[in-house]
Amino acid sequence: MLKGMVLFDRLPVNHPAKDKVFGEVKRSLAGAAGEKRTAELLERELDLTEKAKIFRGVWLPYLDGFAQVDVLVMHTNFVCALEVKNMVGEFHFDSINFQFHRIIDGRVEGMRNPESQLHRAVKASEKFFGCKVHGTIVLSSRSGRVAVPPKLYPVIALDYLPFHIEKMPDPRLSLDVEDLVGLVRRSRGQYNGPDLLKKHKVARESLEVGVRCLGCGKQKMEWSRLRWRCNKCEKVSSNAHEFALQEYAVLFGEEITTEFAYTWLGVKDKYTLYRMLEKSTIKINNRGKRLIIARRELLIEYFQRIYS
Ligand SMILES: [Zn+2]
Repeated sequence: MLKGMVLFDRLPVNHPAKDKVFGEVKRSLAGAAGEKRTAELLERELDLTEKAKIFRGVWLPYLDGFAQVDVLVMHTNFVCALEVKNMVGEFHFDSINFQFHRIIDGRVEGMRNPESQLHRAVKASEKFFGCKVHGTIVLSSRSGRVAVPPKLYPVIALDYLPFHIEKMPDPRLSLDVEDLVGLVRRSRGQYNGPDLLKKHKVARESLEVGVRCLGCGKQKMEWSRLRWRCNKCEKVSSNAHEFALQEYAVLFGEEITTEFAYTWLGVKDKYTLYRMLEKSTIKINNRGKRLIIARRELLIEYFQRIYS
């Protein structure tokens, strides 16, 4: 989601992909809200003899890539993957050709089938944890209604979900939940999200470069007299390039060449660039390649403010 937010900000105003990227960001925000509501409800209401561990937005290795698990519930007697749909309208799961569509305000809208998404999540989890994993589709919005139900997995309204999950424990199973939690924690950060540039056919060269002013938003800052200065809102910063480097890392990965760093930060002076990179990156070879030290929290903090 961060990636989409950064990409949207870095796309020039008239870029053909801009609206689509924004739509995606909005949808993932809605999705994340549904996942959050689901996890919170389960934390509060799930009544089991031993407490379950609940994770949101987990990516697990699957086939040649990764599969996303919206919410993962881990308990000593069962593991369950949830596919959360925070959508309104009437849902049709077509089990003959596995297509999915919803009807909203009389319009038919085709979408990725939540059942096949969940199936990937369940398969990936089973392989990753080495045990059987339950799967459930959750409707987290009260204005969603199922017209044609799915075949392979149950679809449950959020309010009823605790009761549904409370039937899952299998006393014959005895899983080491701490072990599973350790596996999930280690899987974090291994996957940098889908390649949005490729997906939206955006060339790196078409993005806006430079260090953005975090005071007023879009304006490019200028480096002069040892500070970044915004000539619109007059904000002054000594480390605004840190944020720009984190944006780069989210979009392209942590490796950056010194050559491209000049362009990305809009710095011309060799000594200035060297000093900036010296603090925020690690040198990995002698051909000018460096590794950006990840500080996602900078982006999270900023975008939380923007999108709240
Ligand atoms: Zn400004």
